[in-house]
Amino acid sequence: MKICRFDDDRVGIVLGEEVADVTDALQPIATAQYPFPRHDVLVANLERLRPAMDKLLPDAPRRRLADVQLLSPVANPGKIVCAPVNYADHLAEAMGEAEINHGKSISTIAEAGLFLKATSALQGCSHGVVIEHEQSRNDHEIELVAIMGTAGRNIRHDEALSHIAGYAIGLDMTVRGPQDRSMRKSVDTFAILGPWMVTADEIRDPEDLDLLLSVNGEVRQRANTRDLVMKIADLIAFATSYYSLAPGDLLFTGTPAGVGAVQPGDRIQAHIDGIGSMDVPVRGKRGVAR
Ligand code: MN
Repeated sequence: MKICRFDDDRVGIVLGEEVADVTDALQPIATAQYPFPRHDVLVANLERLRPAMDKLLPDAPRRRLADVQLLSPVANPGKIVCAPVNYADHLAEAMGEAEINHGKSISTIAEAGLFLKATSALQGCSHGVVIEHEQSRNDHEIELVAIMGTAGRNIRHDEALSHIAGYAIGLDMTVRGPQDRSMRKSVDTFAILGPWMVTADEIRDPEDLDLLLSVNGEVRQRANTRDLVMKIADLIAFATSYYSLAPGDLLFTGTPAGVGAVQPGDRIQAHIDGIGSMDVPVRGKRGVAR
């Protein structure tokens, strides 16, 4: 099942070029009270809500996907966990290019550990990226994102994949510079998630998916998730050996070689097999184009 959020917080199921509005299925979770949970309530209740979504589907109002604004498929992740240098070719690129490493020594992921992006950076693909620091280099990083479905701490490798609710495409947008990574990667709109969430049952092998990122039609990043240095199960085990993960938490699994700058007015096309494609506008502070 491909589940999207669109327009004014509608929830839909994507069917080909259309989206079926099944927002009414969320009735059972519309009663959250203060203090609100720190995880995503829709993802936490997804298995419970799926039968109601299926029941609504035949008569659900349909819209053309091209006519809706796609929001981040997860509304309220408690954490955005990210893997640095998790493809060997990107590690080599980051070590070799001063504009990427800014004089900092780049180590392996096992040494460097994982990092967090602020959840306020989260944005859907239709809104796109807003470049606020035009004097700096602003890079795209396409990444497979695993969306946690069930909570856990010290999750074992052999159980890790069963904690995943689904997958989406992520853009870990990055300002290059000497500042702390958690600031450079947390600019508003610098965590793009889209175009929808594909439930885990539809992805046969998350570690055999082709990724492709183009800017204005020019291919920049092309890879396959089989080349992940630290595998998805290992990332979850590694992360949860430090902190718990909760439903809706996002795990950005790392980017392959080919990272590069974007400018206001550019369009980023991102594709991952089994998930789909998204076309993401890059805006300046004052609008789409300069
Ligand atoms: Mn990244």
